[in-house]
Amino acid sequence: MALATWVDDKTIDVTIINGRQARAIKRQRNKAVGQLQHKISKCRPGSKRYRRLVTARKKVNGKTKLSLRDFDHQVSRKAANHVINHNTGRLIVGDVRGIEKETKAKGRMGRHSRQQLSQWSRGRQERYLNEKTNLGIEHLNESYSSQTCPACKTRNRPSGRHYRCKNPICGFTCHRDAVGAINILQKAIEGEYVPIGPDVTIRVTYLRAVERWSPDQRKAHHMVQRRKARALSSAQNRALSEASQISKPKLANSSTSTNSLVPDQSVVVA
Ligand SMILES: [Zn+2]
Repeated sequence: MALATWVDDKTIDVTIINGRQARAIKRQRNKAVGQLQHKISKCRPGSKRYRRLVTARKKVNGKTKLSLRDFDHQVSRKAANHVINHNTGRLIVGDVRGIEKETKAKGRMGRHSRQQLSQWSRGRQERYLNEKTNLGIEHLNESYSSQTCPACKTRNRPSGRHYRCKNPICGFTCHRDAVGAINILQKAIEGEYVPIGPDVTIRVTYLRAVERWSPDQRKAHHMVQRRKARALSSAQNRALSEASQISKPKLANSSTSTNSLVPDQSVVVA
């Protein structure tokens, strides 16, 4: 997901949120389910081993579903933060449905990118983003938004993650996802892909979702953190009693424990 906003006349802020984590989650699921499926096919239906394997498959699918939901929440939270920080009034989203129709008619998009598009749970991310910003989403046809050069309107076929304009006079380069977002931004404001000026600065921020922790990892982490907090507070208590000041030890205690808790709470962004 990528977001673009005009900050002032000469600056566009772009936030790109990497979707690689979702593909990794799905790859893991496909592998695990495939292995279980193979074992299940060798079992007699209804046997104890069969039932055990079916339960394991169900568990893998359930966990994947939760991880993907968490991923969509992380992505939409980061996107919502961009919207909130820039205090934007409108939220315009490029419409995938337009693309898919076009693909069918022209058959231009490769199988690989089509699959990536369908694997991206975009509808749910949009719904979450709407819930988190309360702005209401406007849809806009995004055909050629990722190909058109934002500086000179030449159409290029980007290869890889970088966009490079082939027009020798222009030579515009940017992250591929930023190009699409900037074009949709221009279309939303001007009604078409109006080129941005030559002296416009594009500030790009890259973000990505973090891996969801398993309950065991979380438990181990909390045990370590609790031990650290206890050691810290006892050390500070000792220091306090050695100084023998007439302060309030209870207050000091509570402040140290919250201090030690803040860093690990900010690790996982839910
Ligand atoms: Zn160009």
